[in-house]
Amino acid sequence: MDSEVQEFRRTVNGSLAFNKGILDCLTKYQTATAALARVIVKASSLCGCIHIAADQQHLSPGSGLDDLSELMKTHITGDLCRRCRENVEREIATSLYYLTAIANAFGTDIGQLMESETRRGEMLGKYYIK
Ligand SMILES: [Zn+2]
Repeated sequence: MDSEVQEFRRTVNGSLAFNKGILDCLTKYQTATAALARVIVKASSLCGCIHIAADQQHLSPGSGLDDLSELMKTHITGDLCRRCRENVEREIATSLYYLTAIANAFGTDIGQLMESETRRGEMLGKYYIK
């Protein structure tokens, strides 16, 4: 995975031209995340391949940290159809592209960030909660 992340990082670095400025990167990233939200909403409201029914997350009285990830729901039922999956994956990829561009602009290696965050999660175990 590390080499794929590094290759992606180099691809982003080498392909940014018109949007290389940090303000362009920031606004393109915001646009991409907004577009991601839009295609997810459209998968539910226009296509209907998924259903989103958000309600309060319920924890049973005896539940602990070990049970949290099992008890918390995504509020999504159904599966993305081929077209909606393509749309969602495209917008995730675009978001990753501009997030990587932002990291590159500050000389931060997004691969190292992923590694350190993974180590942090492994070290904290069940206390690594977001
Ligand atoms: Zn669909």
